[in-house]
Amino acid sequence: MAVEQTLILIKPDGLSRKLTGLTIDRLDASGLEMVGAKMVSVSEKLAREHYKALCDKPFFSNLIKYIRGDFHGFPGHRVLAMVYRGEGAIAKVRQIAGATNPEQAEPGTIRGSFGRITTAGQFENVIHASSDPRDAEREIRLWFKADEILPEPAKALK
Ligand code: UDP
Ligand code: MG
Repeated sequence: MAVEQTLILIKPDGLSRKLTGLTIDRLDASGLEMVGAKMVSVSEKLAREHYKALCDKPFFSNLIKYIRGDFHGFPGHRVLAMVYRGEGAIAKVRQIAGATNPEQAEPGTIRGSFGRITTAGQFENVIHASSDPRDAEREIRLWFKADEILPEPAKALK
């Protein structure tokens, strides 16, 4: 299996409901390595760029509000952005996260345990996880500068 990097965001619902530690605990239990982490204040521009593939969807404008914390009364529009690295990291983290729709997510996944659908129809599903290698590369470059991610051990020795 190839060593991959994947982007994870603990979304504003996850932060405001104090699910940060629990989420990291589950990610760490996978054996993958956390190689980058920072709190980010999400600008409108960053939110739109991150979700640009969904810009035609009817839920897009609320999705931008959601990822910017507008539904969670947060000062500074915060999310926790992380990069995890390891063999098959992208699929492993997607599995830990669970299905996009919290009602369809397996019990025991983060979204299955803690996600909800609001009465307005928004999926508040606690975390974002990159869905494939192309997305992962694009998203990591969007959220992190190269020197904010730990190099692979072999490269660090050089
Ligand atoms: N979303 C939503 N309603 C939908 C589909 C998606 O509110 O019908 C939100 C949800 O928060 C999801 C995000 O939009 O996590 C991005 O959608 P995507 O299809 O990329 O799902 P993901 O990759 O996050 O599982
Ligand atoms: Mg996606």
